[in-house]
Amino acid sequence: MDTICLCDGYADGHYVLPPLPYDVSALAPLLDAETVQLHYARHHAAYVEGANAAAEMMRQVALGERPEKVAATAANHLAFNLAGHMLHTLYWGNISPEIGCRPCCCMADAINTAFGSYEGFVRVFRGAALGVQGSGWAVLAKDAVSHRLVVLAAQKHQDALLPRMQPLLVCDVWEHAYYLRYHNNRAGYVDAFMNQICWQTVGRRFNQNQEKNHVCSQSK
Ligand code: MN
Repeated sequence: MDTICLCDGYADGHYVLPPLPYDVSALAPLLDAETVQLHYARHHAAYVEGANAAAEMMRQVALGERPEKVAATAANHLAFNLAGHMLHTLYWGNISPEIGCRPCCCMADAINTAFGSYEGFVRVFRGAALGVQGSGWAVLAKDAVSHRLVVLAAQKHQDALLPRMQPLLVCDVWEHAYYLRYHNNRAGYVDAFMNQICWQTVGRRFNQNQEKNHVCSQSK
């Protein structure tokens, strides 16, 4: 199942809210329909709107229609909102109605190399997600140079996206992602998240930039 990719978030010169690859009620028991609806149609949509507004503000500065100092505000807003848009697009794609998937093929090999085992990866990713102070993200990323996997954590959206670190799996730990269902029990949300990861999508992201002569049975 091809879900959703970053290119779905841009069309006709504007950032757009990509369609969800499932019904808002399909992610139970991980997420209830109201959480998904609010998160997608309000929060994610606000980042899309913010990114477009910042890009427009930047265009107006470039044309001399607004003073140069406005560029700093525009650049800050674009970094935050565009990173938010990208992360949410990745997030919807890497969770699934299917329960209990596990990594396989090259993805499983890379996890074993980096973390010793799948259980080792879960300890690292879960610990990173639970340890984010306040709002933020846990990210499993591939170092584009070494091709090794790393786990990153960040509070602001733009701090979760680093050059050469290709995000494969992202977990939103802002309270809006889980509070309706889990209240302050972030661990309950993260445990459910770990059990509804779409590893096929994560594996596809992993294989996207592998060497051309590298053949993996999971890449399609
Ligand atoms: Mn969010």
